[in-house]
Amino acid sequence: MTVQSVISYYKIPKIMLKSDIIIAQASGKGVGAITIIRLSGKGCIELISGFFSKDLVDQPSHTIHFGRFRDQKEKLLDECLISIFKTPRSYTKEDSIEISCHGSLHITDRIINTCLEAGARMANPGEFTLRAFMNGQLDLSQAEAVAELIESDSPRSHKLALDKLRGGFSKKLRALRAEIINIASLIELELDFGEEDVEFADRQQLETTLITLKSEVDTLLKSYNTGNVVKTGIKTVIAGIPNAGKSTLLNVLIQDDRAIVSDIPGTTRDTLEEQIVISGLKFLFVDTAGLRQSSDDIEIIGVNKAKDKILSADLILYVVDISSSDPQTVAKEIKNLERNQSSIILILNKMDKNPYTKPETFHIPGFINQDNLVTCSARNNMNIEHLKNTIVAMVEKELIQDGTIITSRRHYDELLKTKVAVDEVLIGLEKGKSGDLLSIDLRKTLNHIGKITGEIHTDDLLENIFSNFCIGK
Ligand code: GDP
Repeated sequence: MTVQSVISYYKIPKIMLKSDIIIAQASGKGVGAITIIRLSGKGCIELISGFFSKDLVDQPSHTIHFGRFRDQKEKLLDECLISIFKTPRSYTKEDSIEISCHGSLHITDRIINTCLEAGARMANPGEFTLRAFMNGQLDLSQAEAVAELIESDSPRSHKLALDKLRGGFSKKLRALRAEIINIASLIELELDFGEEDVEFADRQQLETTLITLKSEVDTLLKSYNTGNVVKTGIKTVIAGIPNAGKSTLLNVLIQDDRAIVSDIPGTTRDTLEEQIVISGLKFLFVDTAGLRQSSDDIEIIGVNKAKDKILSADLILYVVDISSSDPQTVAKEIKNLERNQSSIILILNKMDKNPYTKPETFHIPGFINQDNLVTCSARNNMNIEHLKNTIVAMVEKELIQDGTIITSRRHYDELLKTKVAVDEVLIGLEKGKSGDLLSIDLRKTLNHIGKITGEIHTDDLLENIFSNFCIGK
């Protein structure tokens, strides 16, 4: 095996790209003022030019043309704008066209059918982005970020997807992978010399690169929790004994009357969930049944559910009725939550009933972080802004780390496998394993990183990723 053949082994894409003309509606389904129909593939400009009132073939890339679109029988379908993107300066790197026509379903169907009859075919989900990936416009993690960008529903998840689309973490992994490929190829070259005791590859350099890779992988693995909370929302449980004001608080936070508020203790018997965005962060608020001993079977189920939710939450808002609680009892209740204090915000509610109570005079034994203590009145909307600021500050401090963040379960799994493989090589190096055994472990390492960035891929993997895209993307 030569150096070159090892290098190319890791670089050759496993499936070949089709370049026929694909077409799909790129704007959302339903009727709008304008619909955008997208085409990509060799010959698409010539195809559209045949139906358009103006010649498009000799027009420069990145130009827009107004004209009439007629079908094969010369019947006028619409007046539209056509944008031209010529290879390689397009999203897919192929010749591409975008038709902006009037948003009638009838017009859209007729234009698409005309193109299908002329030789185009309907695009599969994500096929435009698949082509962008196969043509080297995006790596695989960037292509996945395109789907995340479309789905992002809060400013933070939008930023995460955008960072990833711009190259984010995969650039560093690609560079480290390339370094390892060079060393791995030298080790494989040693194998060609069989009996002769030669060492072309610098073991020390390999070890240093692997240690750098491992630390990069560790940082990314740790960031998954952040990525997850930002993407799917911070699971926030509102807990406390019955009548503390939990439902009232949830209502004021979501400014809606979703939870049932009543004077009868134990009204919230199940859990309610609401999504809200505060300072760009998405929260999944869960109101729970009040935590107390009960003989009512249904209430017991609710209390048990509440306990489960508390254990799995990212953040707990523990609500206390300050007018009827004493600090010692509250201290016990907090201990019973069995959660680290850094994930609890203690809310001393009903301050309107006892306006002179200040957090510092309501001293809860053992509750260390005074910053996580807020007095408020849910019913009178007092201090709620301060509460929201405290929640965001706490999340930023405890849950959100800076730097590169991964959000995909697929990346997480491959990174875990990379870590195991790297450890095997490092142990092998320490034990002075032979080149052939080292190269097996190195191949595993290279394969796992390659699957993240897309340098290694199988039809199944691509199918799995791109089938989750919408058609037209
Ligand atoms: P939960 O059982 O903890 O969900 O408590 P609720 O939200 O149902 O509230 C119980 C009672 O306390 C209701 O009558 C609320 O109107 C009342 N309440 C809630 N917050 C406040 C508050 O800030 N001040 C006062 N005075 N009453 C409140």
